[in-house]
Amino acid sequence: MATCPKCRGHLTTGHRCRRTARQQTLDLALAGVAGGLTALVMTAVFDPQQVVSEYDGYIMAGAIALAMLTQSLMQQD
Ligand SMILES: [Zn+2]
Repeated sequence: MATCPKCRGHLTTGHRCRRTARQQTLDLALAGVAGGLTALVMTAVFDPQQVVSEYDGYIMAGAIALAMLTQSLMQQD
C-alpha cells in the first residue's frame, strides 16, 4: 500500500494528514484488539483441536500486537 510522504500514513482515497492524538490512541487500541482477535482466529483455524497451549497463543498474540503497534507508531509524525 502506498504511504503518504508527509505523514507516512496509508495513502487512501480519504487520506488526511496530521492525525489527531485521539485517532492515534484509537489506532493503538484497535491494533491491540486486532492483534488479539487475529491470534484467536488463527488459533481457531489452525488449531481446532486446541493442541497448542494457551501460552503459545499469548506469544502469538503478543507478537502480532507488537508488530501492529510498531507499524502504528511509525505512522506518527
Ligand atoms: Zn498524509
